[in-house]
Amino acid sequence: MRAVLLGPPGAGKGTQAVRLAERYSIPAISTGDIFRANVSGDTELGRQAKEFMNAGALVPDEVTNAMVQDRLGQPDVANGFLLDGYPRNPDQAVVLDLMLGEQGVSLDTAIELTVDFDAVTERLLMRATLEGRSDDTEPVIRKRLEVYSTSTAPLTAFYEGRGLLLQVDGLGDMDEVTQRIISAIDHR
Ligand code: ADP
Repeated sequence: MRAVLLGPPGAGKGTQAVRLAERYSIPAISTGDIFRANVSGDTELGRQAKEFMNAGALVPDEVTNAMVQDRLGQPDVANGFLLDGYPRNPDQAVVLDLMLGEQGVSLDTAIELTVDFDAVTERLLMRATLEGRSDDTEPVIRKRLEVYSTSTAPLTAFYEGRGLLLQVDGLGDMDEVTQRIISAIDHR
């Protein structure tokens, strides 16, 4: 299975991605995690990404696309993958299609976790105090949600138009959400 996981910040994509990866024996690839690891390791990529992340902005497409291209060239994705946090705008989605096309494969599904904006804002603010992520402060959270609405939300229509969209209610118990996603995938 080659899939992307969509949904606003705080929708629970990271948690669900790890579980789904295990269920379908494919790697979960989180662009946010890769960026954070590079920021921690103070790599060139981390230095390029850091200021954008701390502002709640998207890292420039050239940087992000190159990173994903590299990751999708690794042998563990030969039998599939689940992308969490990529694509995040229609241009990235077009680039992803091209990258997969070069490998002679294509995306099977785009799973969107739908959640209420007030609920995710609350979740993120709660997580901010628990995990201390540097981009989990109120102004940056608001900015990330705004970027989601303007840049990422249009992907719903993009993937719907390609007949790949699966929308799943992301509110409620984590196990329940996992079950909803699995059943949506298996009944596709
Ligand atoms: P969240 O979904 O909670 O905002 P992520 O961990 O997915 O968090 O992403 C954190 C940050 O990493 C984003 O705000 C952005 O700066 C950067 N980032 C992650 N994925 C992408 C992407 N596909 N394109 C551009 N920037 C990205």
